[in-house]
Order: sequence, then structure tokens, then C-alpha cells
Amino acid sequence: MSLGIYIQVPFCQTRCTYCNFHTGVVSSARFAPYAAAVQTEIREHQSRLQQAGIVLPNSLAQEMNDTVYFGGGTPSLLDPEHLRGMLDAIRDMFLHDFREVTLEADPETIDAQKAAAWAAAGINRVSLGVQSFSDLELQAAGRMHRRADIYRAVPILHAAGIRNISIDLIAGLPHQTPESWRSSLEELTQLAPQHVSIYLLEVDEGSRLGSELLRGGTKYSALAVPSDDAMAESYDLARTALSAAGYEHYEISNFAKPGFASEHNRKYWRRTPYLGFGAGAHSFSGTQRWANAHDAAAYVQSIASGKIPVEQAETISPPQALEEELFLGLRQLAGIDISLLQKIYGVPLDNRFTSLESSGLVKRSGSLVQIAPEHLSISNEVFVELMR
Ligand code: SF4
Repeated sequence: MSLGIYIQVPFCQTRCTYCNFHTGVVSSARFAPYAAAVQTEIREHQSRLQQAGIVLPNSLAQEMNDTVYFGGGTPSLLDPEHLRGMLDAIRDMFLHDFREVTLEADPETIDAQKAAAWAAAGINRVSLGVQSFSDLELQAAGRMHRRADIYRAVPILHAAGIRNISIDLIAGLPHQTPESWRSSLEELTQLAPQHVSIYLLEVDEGSRLGSELLRGGTKYSALAVPSDDAMAESYDLARTALSAAGYEHYEISNFAKPGFASEHNRKYWRRTPYLGFGAGAHSFSGTQRWANAHDAAAYVQSIASGKIPVEQAETISPPQALEEELFLGLRQLAGIDISLLQKIYGVPLDNRFTSLESSGLVKRSGSLVQIAPEHLSISNEVFVELMR
């Protein structure tokens, strides 16, 4: 077991129409105070967490920290010195042997000087928010970059020595057609990143496009959003194309060339402890989960006044832990070993899967249970069924 550290950078240049994250478009003058607050939170996390009623198990202090993940938002907007400062604070406060230090970056924010400074600071993996190779789709989604920026960014990262690159695509963007999706997948596989994430457009009240779709409106190109069936077909097409290009499908949304599965994200699915710093960051100690409040200004203010803005904290009971094992475990294509879970939690599990198995949604082989590959695109239905 090894500790993961997540740093949340909740700032963006603009708001993409489909975005349901807690991020804000703010003046760049707010970046330095935010980065300084995160450094303070890292350096003083033990005493501040204690004030908030959270006591870290002693065993966590002995854990090696081998992954760091800067997520957002758009962390690549920050000055590289800010990123370095936060990494230095982690180096000072934790036993560390960084194997994977990931930065989420938008293609248009990348230049040679920044990439070189990232590599010098220890960042060795960049997760590029590409989303599509079609300018029509990018524009409709309110993205700042265009296809040409992707082709500019990747060689810059390579030249800086960052060779572990992940690319995200979204199935279901407005104006996406089977042809444009196929073409994005072809361009992606030709660029041959080490890792790929495929997400389905989320339709909920949290985004401008989502609420427009829910109320039957026409703004944000809502009428040009593909149907649910088309999105599911796009997902299945991606699975086939990525498998043919040598990627292993290891988690519902994630695909990797051999040896390049995301070490950090695996910790979430395997319930390995991680500490999150920054506004809205989540943490898990093995027995407790907690989250900082989302508002970045309130976060900076709270750190300045000697506190930590922990908004929710809960101790995970054994039945909750078991539910997490099932949901997080089934997200991974390797599946779950129900004999092992029965032994750990002392609860019979066989019956939980009877109806899912008879409806073909899950596959069972001995004590191993996996979501049936042909139903991965409707995994939410599997999880709903599992809750009944
Ligand atoms: S760049 Fe990412 S986090 Fe920022 S608004 Fe767009 S989707 Fe949301």
C-alpha cells in the first residue's frame, strides 16, 4: 500500500458547456495566493485536520507517497513555480518516492518553457483534456483549444521528456457523428498516447448543456447532442478501436498501453488511502472520508485564519466499506473476488449477484464477478440493480 496525494486547482479560462465540476473563471492574480494556501495546508495538515476532528492513523505517516495528481479545473494554467512549490511541500512533509506525478493540462495552455519547467519540477505524466479532434465539436462545447493545438502540444511534451501522456475523449458532444467519432479515435490512436480515458457526456443540472437538455431547450447546441444509444455505440466502438491499437481496457473509462495504467487513479478504485489538498479536494484515510469546501476564496480565507475548510467528514462503517468495494471493484475490468470479500466482511454475497447474472449484466467465473463486457456502456444500470 502506498499513499496518493491529490491537489485540486479549481480554475479555468472559460466554462465548457458540458462541465459539471466546481471550477471558476477567475483573475490570474488569484493563482499565487491559492498555491500558497495549498502549500500551507500540506505543511500543516496534521494539526489542522486534528482541529477539524480528523485524526490520521499513525500507519499513514509510514506510507510511502508514490503518486501525486494535480487535477482541476485546469492546473496547467498555474505558473510552473506554483506547481513546484506544492511538490516541494509534499517532498518536505511525506516519505516520498514519486513514481507518477500527473498534471491535467489543456492543449492550448502548453508551451515549451512551461513543459520544460514541469519536467524539471518532477512532473512525469500529463493528462491532456483533448475531448475531440473535431473543431466543430470543440467550438460547440466551449473548449478553448482546437485540433491544431493538440498536434502542437504533444511534440512539445515529448521534447521536454514527458513521455507518459494520457488523452481524454468525450462520447456524446454536440455535433458528434459516428464518422467524426471514428475519425477522433483514428487520430488518437495515431498519436499513440500511453493512456486514454473515454467519458460519456453527463447530462445533469450541474452543467449548462445538461440543464438545457433536461428542460428540452435548444441553447448550447443541445439539439445536436447524439442519442443515448449513439453514445453507447460510440463507447463500444472506442473499446474495439483501442483494443486493436494495443490498449488494455482496465477500468470502465480507462485504457492503457501495457504498464501505463494510472497508478494514482487505481488507488481510488482499490480503496488505498489518499490525501487531497485544495478547495473541494477529497481524502480517504482507510477509515474516514472527508472533503474540503468547494469555494476557492473561502478556502484561501480559511487557511489564512489558521483553519481547514473541511465540509464533510464521515467514518466509513463496515457495511459502507463493503458497498464501496463492490462499486469501485466492479468499475475495474478485473472484477471482484466475492469469496475474498465474504471472508473480509463476514457477509454472504452470492445472492447479491443472482439476478444480475441471470440478466447477463455480470459474468461470474467461480468467485470472480465482472461486468459483462457488452454491458459496460450501461454500467450505471448494473450499479442501480446492485443497490436493490
Ligand atoms: S476545462 Fe475542464 S474543468 Fe474547466 S470548464 Fe472545461 S471541462 Fe470544466
